[in-house]
Amino acid sequence: MHQPYKPVSLFAGHYLDRNAWERDDAAWFEVARRDTRTRYILARGTAQLIVHEPAPHVVFLGGDDPRVAVVQERQAILLGWYEGARCVLIEDDSTDIVPPPGARFEELRPLSSLLPEREAGLLAYARALSIWRAKHRYCGACGAPTQPARAGHVLGCSNAACGHTMFPRIDPAIIVLVSDGERALLGRQASWPKHRYSTIAGFVEPGESIEAAVAREVLEETGVTLADVTYHSSQPWPFPSSLMIGFHAVAATRDIARHDSELEDAQWFTRAQIAAGHPLLSPRTSISWRLIESWFDAGWPVPLAELA
Ligand SMILES: [Zn+2]
Repeated sequence: MHQPYKPVSLFAGHYLDRNAWERDDAAWFEVARRDTRTRYILARGTAQLIVHEPAPHVVFLGGDDPRVAVVQERQAILLGWYEGARCVLIEDDSTDIVPPPGARFEELRPLSSLLPEREAGLLAYARALSIWRAKHRYCGACGAPTQPARAGHVLGCSNAACGHTMFPRIDPAIIVLVSDGERALLGRQASWPKHRYSTIAGFVEPGESIEAAVAREVLEETGVTLADVTYHSSQPWPFPSSLMIGFHAVAATRDIARHDSELEDAQWFTRAQIAAGHPLLSPRTSISWRLIESWFDAGWPVPLAELA
């Protein structure tokens, strides 16, 4: 399928064709089971089935695998078409599936940079769905159990008198590289590794636009006001349910005054300081690193990616 944009961050790529209309087929599960090309990936809670030899990879089970034969439709979610084959997520909630030799259930986050990018994206998508489904086993309106619909992408209340319908939950969060031209405004939380600083971030609140959230978060956490805000890129971040919406911003003021306790420190850093390795930045898989990289590379002779 046509790829209309260049993905900027991990998890943000065009790693599968969702073909969302296929979810409307009430017989989707039988169709998937009959198609011997269908591939299945397994999750147990938020952990997903991985193999490490010869290199880290997601485990795809074929339709002829006996582990798949016992799966019920309520455990299955149609993810889309991955590398040309239908891909179905199986939630092993009864934990009775015995993994193939060498495979085990693991959390995605430490594996993010070790897996092929397409596989990391696929698992991030599956993880987001698993987390949402696990938190919506019961109707938030009347408390009755929910039941899946639309190939696992919708949960409906089983109480016909209620009829409440739930859709996958995504929490929008802004993340912004604020610059005064020469310097970048970065902050750190007390729980982070020593010397690590990152871009300013926070959740969008109800009744608030994304751009207003950028200005508010920067003001709350650093006291700096903004003159200009420009969208950069976004990154799904299923730890547990965020969509990180990334911006570059130009500062209108420079004095730092923290109004909340989210950060233990915020400072302006020059490109020379960043090039010298102080502060330590977030992992390269993060949109924070990407936002800093694109600002840094615009004013430094050596790309940030080539620096140690
Ligand atoms: Zn209900």
